[in-house]
Amino acid sequence: LVELVGIHKAFGDNVVLDGVDLSVTRGEVIVIAGPSGSGKSTMLRCVNGLETVDSGEVRFDGRPVTPGKGLSALRAQIGFVFQQFHLFPHMTVLQNITLAPVKVKGIAADTARTTAHQLLERVGIAEKAEQFPADLSGGQQQRVAIARALAMDPQLMLFDEPTSALDPEMIREVLDVMRDLARDGMTMLVVTHEMGFAREVCDRLVFIDGGQIVEEGPPAEFFANAQSERAREFVDKII
Ligand code: ATP
Ligand code: MG
Repeated sequence: LVELVGIHKAFGDNVVLDGVDLSVTRGEVIVIAGPSGSGKSTMLRCVNGLETVDSGEVRFDGRPVTPGKGLSALRAQIGFVFQQFHLFPHMTVLQNITLAPVKVKGIAADTARTTAHQLLERVGIAEKAEQFPADLSGGQQQRVAIARALAMDPQLMLFDEPTSALDPEMIREVLDVMRDLARDGMTMLVVTHEMGFAREVCDRLVFIDGGQIVEEGPPAEFFANAQSERAREFVDKII
């Protein structure tokens, strides 16, 4: 579904991605881990064209991700959940979720509302439809953000440290929603430091350092038996 082929990205003379190759098949759940500044967010942003690569190629569903005409259609197929929830504060939960399906996809308002209620049910906050984001806990807001992304019926979900801004007691409820989504077959790229989630849910763990994929493989193997010095140091620090 996604292919990164030798991608390079620099900001000025700061080389952030230095030859990244990764291919993601449908239904696969990949956790991306690595030290701060290693290029994880930049890599996710390249996947949906929020950043353009300097060289190499990003392909989504067989088509190159390049700036220009096709990009908004492509982005409509990719959900993105951020550390900060980025909900629209002046809209209710329901309005947050129905906005893009109606505006971008032209779905009828009542259909979009029905779907939104189903999604809220799925993320466990059916009763919050008419509330405003400020009236919800962080964990609830993040679940709204996930429901909002799902409302576009995406083929791929990107998560960039979705639980890093949450109080510890709310992390679980968000990870549970993500785990269910993974079990339902969603293709997911997840940047996270939650190694319990990685161990339990992901098919493949990708360890990135200095803009390069240093190691990748099944999570159990990574934790038990990381090959590189840098990965072992990371594992020791984080577990
Ligand atoms: P963290 O774990 O702290 O989120 P990360 O692995 O996600 O880190 P990135 O956000 O991808 O790292 O950033 C990698 C490097 O690129 C950093 O040195 C950062 O300062 C730089 N960088 C990222 N975005 C930009 C930008 N828009 N302009 C200039 N430099 C940037
Ligand atoms: Mg980041």
